[in-house]
Amino acid sequence: MSATRHNWTKEEILEIYNKPFMELLYEAATVHRLHHDPNVVQVSTLLSIKTGGCSEDCGYCPQAARYHTNIEGNDLMSLQQVKAQALRAKESGSSRVCMGAAWRNVKDGEEFDQVLEMVRSINKLDMEVCCTLGMLTENQAKRLAEAGLYAYNHNLDSSEEYYKEVISTRGYQDRLDTIDNVRKTNVTVCSGGIIGMGEKTEDRAGMLVALSTLNPQPESVPINALVAVEGTPLEDQEPVSIWDMVRMVATTRIVMPETQVRLSAGRTQMTREGQAMCFFAGANSIFAGDKLLTTPNPDVNEDMKMFELLGLNPQKPFTKKVQPQTIEANDSQYQALGEKPKWTRPDHTIERNELAKEKAKAIK
Ligand code: SF4
Repeated sequence: MSATRHNWTKEEILEIYNKPFMELLYEAATVHRLHHDPNVVQVSTLLSIKTGGCSEDCGYCPQAARYHTNIEGNDLMSLQQVKAQALRAKESGSSRVCMGAAWRNVKDGEEFDQVLEMVRSINKLDMEVCCTLGMLTENQAKRLAEAGLYAYNHNLDSSEEYYKEVISTRGYQDRLDTIDNVRKTNVTVCSGGIIGMGEKTEDRAGMLVALSTLNPQPESVPINALVAVEGTPLEDQEPVSIWDMVRMVATTRIVMPETQVRLSAGRTQMTREGQAMCFFAGANSIFAGDKLLTTPNPDVNEDMKMFELLGLNPQKPFTKKVQPQTIEANDSQYQALGEKPKWTRPDHTIERNELAKEKAKAIK
């Protein structure tokens, strides 16, 4: 079995990415078979527990308050609502619920306590629980771990160089520090990025260098194709071609053989044949449900029909790692510290983000 390497260079990754297509596909499929069951795909349900009104300026995101998009904002969901949605997700074949809140970073207080209760209640449903809540301190990561969190998502989005062209309100290092804080617990790391934001192939390779040289590598790497939403700075980006998507999935599979490669946003733009090529190239997870936070996603029944057609089976929960124990709030070793961490605010501006902000002001 090929050993996992943590010293990939950008040149090596570019060489893989640019291989003749059939050769790349064959190599990726071979690595995939050595490390995973090729007929098993993990299914996650993404739940937006707090939507919109975010203070950040991520150029791809309709939830940023400064842009004018058509999404409906919502305050933090109730525990009952989340539990009901998790049960529905379980019945439709999901093994994992990923809860997303449009926050810059986690703040100690009532809302975070409520999220901890959500984690406890979903773990008790014997489902893997993932959260994506923004930047996180070590103590907050430990509190989530005690509640029974299985995974924490924090995407690097792109290469460090291109990240600066998309987001100006926080730094790349803060993202790496958050991943590092998660690594101080037994919670697994989910971190990937988006292609189709106008980046060069070198940036795609640069992102894979940043992810693959982490030791350990993330247990899960989502590969998103940009869904260009009207009103966001990236609204005019051309859709990513399926060939680029397959190349990106295949390269990710080769440089991170053990990781779960997630086919994430952008699946509605792909045919079944295109998705089948991605599975062949090593993708072994999808997000189910008709929405991915705020952007469209294929219907669950459509996905199940595709699984049947391709002979794929949904992965059972806790196949890769044992279920974490839930410690109740009263017995917790870690309490809120009321920290006020100084996450970076870089001082550069991004012209297209500023333009989208001005346009939104004129409409509002
Ligand atoms: S991607 Fe997350 S942090 Fe960035 S604007 Fe959207 S919700 Fe906020």
